[in-house]
Amino acid sequence: MNVRRRLAASRINTAGTAALAATALAIGTLSACSSDSNAAEGESGGGKLDVVASFYPLQFLAEEIGGDHVSVTSLTEPGQEPHDLEISAQQTAQLQEADTVLYLKGLQPSVDEAVGQSEVKTKVDAATLTKLEDLGTEEGHEHGEGEEEPAGEEEHALDPHVWLDPVKYAEIAEGVGKALEKEDPDNAADYKKNTADLVKKLDDLNTAYEDGLKNTKTKVFFTNHAAFGYLAERYGLTMEAIAGLEPDSEPSAARVKELQQEAKADGVTTVFYETLVSDKTAKTLAADAGLKTDVLDPLEGITDKSKGDDYFQVMQANLTALEKALGTK
Ligand code: ZN
Repeated sequence: MNVRRRLAASRINTAGTAALAATALAIGTLSACSSDSNAAEGESGGGKLDVVASFYPLQFLAEEIGGDHVSVTSLTEPGQEPHDLEISAQQTAQLQEADTVLYLKGLQPSVDEAVGQSEVKTKVDAATLTKLEDLGTEEGHEHGEGEEEPAGEEEHALDPHVWLDPVKYAEIAEGVGKALEKEDPDNAADYKKNTADLVKKLDDLNTAYEDGLKNTKTKVFFTNHAAFGYLAERYGLTMEAIAGLEPDSEPSAARVKELQQEAKADGVTTVFYETLVSDKTAKTLAADAGLKTDVLDPLEGITDKSKGDDYFQVMQANLTALEKALGTK
């Protein structure tokens, strides 16, 4: 950073000379690149664990648990919708150099493939650290309860949005902590402590959700894409997703009609949309059915538009939005 600024200044000083300016620019670019790639080893005196996370929730876990001992990068840029991420050649190379990769199999096919082909020492699949379920959210109904059979692991995809349930997210945190301890035993005590602190905060968040959503006028909420199935299941709510598990699918006219009727029957007040994908469908449905709209953030990335700077702040904002929409008594 400093290097870059200094060069920029010298470029201004020599502004009259095009050749010099061009040289300074070239050096600036070079330094920026090399200082980036040196950051992991350089600053830490050669010690930092190089962790690549596939998207924000796993990046957050790595940062919280790894603290100063890790250098974390995310394959999904802030503001990029993670489901249909396409891995670049540069990222594939970056993956090869990592000590540890954290990903969630089933969420990002392109990441799954790149990780599968890479020779990273430690590959941590978050899907193996908790239990993924088929919440049947694609069809709309069939929520939890009796859990009719898996009649042979059909085509039906398991819902990958586990991080939105603080309990499952805590299970993943424990697993990530253990993986870091194993990979970097010298700092195991720190990873252990950081994991315990994080799990405690997630317990508190879980309690806040339990208390906040215990007594509400309605238990039903509408969302744009079906990201909140685990959260709904955890707190006894029913999520009706306008679209499916993929955020950009469009609902059929029949589905829209069904949702309108259900809104009436169940006292639904609000259609939730999110920051990373178009809110057009949500807004149209809300207008047609006379409902309000609000943001419920699936935390697939943090941007300036997010209602908070990290997982906990956004989850707290989500709780407030849910309480309002469901009518907390
Ligand atoms: Zn999603």
